[in-house]
Amino acid sequence: MIVSIDTGSGFCFGVTSAIRKAEEELQKGSLSCLGDIVHNGQEVERLEQIGLRTIGYEDLQQMHGGRVLLRAHGEPPSTYATARANGIEVIDATCPVVKKLQERIRTTYIQHPQAQIVIFGKVGHAEVIGLQGQTDNTAIVIEGLQDLDKIDFSRDIYLFSQTTKSVDEFRKIVESLESRVQSSHLDIKLTVEDTICRNVANRVTQLQAFAKQQDIVFFVGGQKSSNAKVLFEHCRQANPNTIFVSSPTELSTTELLSTRDIKLSNQRIGICGATSTPLWLMEQVRDQLNQLTTI
Ligand code: SF4
Repeated sequence: MIVSIDTGSGFCFGVTSAIRKAEEELQKGSLSCLGDIVHNGQEVERLEQIGLRTIGYEDLQQMHGGRVLLRAHGEPPSTYATARANGIEVIDATCPVVKKLQERIRTTYIQHPQAQIVIFGKVGHAEVIGLQGQTDNTAIVIEGLQDLDKIDFSRDIYLFSQTTKSVDEFRKIVESLESRVQSSHLDIKLTVEDTICRNVANRVTQLQAFAKQQDIVFFVGGQKSSNAKVLFEHCRQANPNTIFVSSPTELSTTELLSTRDIKLSNQRIGICGATSTPLWLMEQVRDQLNQLTTI
């Protein structure tokens, strides 16, 4: 059995710098993080063990003073307003790519008040909530082609995307919107802003090339991570023998392998993950696999 870890997998720079910021700030004193710092339970646990406290919006409302870290996903203006009103110091770890996207949406909203701002993204996702906040929550969120009816095709449309969405799905949405706008025979302006983070999009090709070289792939990702779901699907397309695991303990269930009629011996095994998967977790999965085959 040869086990290798995909060198391109792991935290993107936005998440890496948010975690680094949390570690640095924890050395100066107590620190809370609004929401999970990363969609990976094990990494959240590791940071909580060194003092990071994860809080929710209700906690923020009740809090007075103290310091709160805003994670890479970004926050709507209302969060900053609450922090200001409650005398809370904000440690802003919003990823610069997300920050720029928030500013673009805000500017569009102010400059084109009659137009509709449409965001291709997941309803309720933290980043999307932050983006909607730039438009006083007037932006329309579409999750796929099935949601196009939410759009008024008699008014101008500005389309943006959540940074972690799939480029292919975005293209399909654009094609469909173009054809709906054309068939309306109205003088509507459709402006498309491809705001997908290439840090994620470029990973697909690399991940698929890695997956194709393996007999079995273990994709390590958090259950709450939308990026993990997207990348896992791409990985499975390249190699149907791709198995999603959240932690090394899941590997010890032999059914996981036997139900798929997969044996580990004499196989090339690849381990990869999402932009929210820490390298140390992929290394733990590798070690656990090595242990399983020596039992
Ligand atoms: S995926 Fe891209 S936009 Fe999102 S946090 Fe990472 S670097 Fe930033």
